[in-house]
Amino acid sequence: MRLVDAHAHVQADRFARDLPGVLGAAAASGVERLLVPGWNVVSSREAVALAHAPTPGAPPIDAAVGIHPHEASGADDSAWAEIAALAAEPFVVAIGETGLDYDRAFSPREDQLVNLRRHLALGRETGKPVILHCRSAAGLRDAQDDLIAELRTAGVGDRAWRERLGGRPPAVLHSFSGPVDYAEAALGLGLAIGFSGLVFRRTEESSADAVRRVPAQRLLVETDSPYLSPPGAPKRRNEPAWVGVTAHWVARQRDADPDTLGAALVAAYDATFGRGTGEQGT
Ligand SMILES: [Zn+2]
Repeated sequence: MRLVDAHAHVQADRFARDLPGVLGAAAASGVERLLVPGWNVVSSREAVALAHAPTPGAPPIDAAVGIHPHEASGADDSAWAEIAALAAEPFVVAIGETGLDYDRAFSPREDQLVNLRRHLALGRETGKPVILHCRSAAGLRDAQDDLIAELRTAGVGDRAWRERLGGRPPAVLHSFSGPVDYAEAALGLGLAIGFSGLVFRRTEESSADAVRRVPAQRLLVETDSPYLSPPGAPKRRNEPAWVGVTAHWVARQRDADPDTLGAALVAAYDATFGRGTGEQGT
């Protein structure tokens, strides 16, 4: 099955000792595209460096640069200036990851909202999709509701924004978590949605319903390595090579042939991030 991993933090410390092996295993398992998002300035810089220096035998790497909601309070103006400068680099295909996290709430909500708004403005300005993390505490949906409200206020999905993105989605809901009507609201705004090992958790049953509603050209799979291990993967170190577990789950939920789905995943990745189309933002 052809595969993509649309969200893997392979610049994390946990991969420092054997990254070439991790990337080689990803390629051997079928992964043809790898998107590496930053979560602060240093990890964004590292993502860009990885994209610039491909490892022989590894999938091509694309980078995203941004500040995770957990890091929102620590990001000063100089950090933000560096993210904005990195965002212009050619191997940077997306802005993020950013978003809202009301579950662990390592940064106050007001700081997270300011951080999110900056990323949305940068996505619009650069013509690159914004990668969105969104978690509420189990059983709640306040972060999801706030996110959709913020996207609407920012004008995501309006005509000017769509034109700026050249038909690519303005944003990606990464590692989907939340109710089905939230997925529908995001799809209504033109977003793509990525599914991860989170779908196997007991509190995430609505993911099965959500994944059936996503149009193939806006459907992505990801690991969020080194986190969110699917069944079978080491608990403390998920890797891109495990993305097939989630992809096969997606195929079952959609009653799709895995090979057909795999080809669609690669096409959706390219349509979302512009790889191979020459449509990366300027
Ligand atoms: Zn992530």
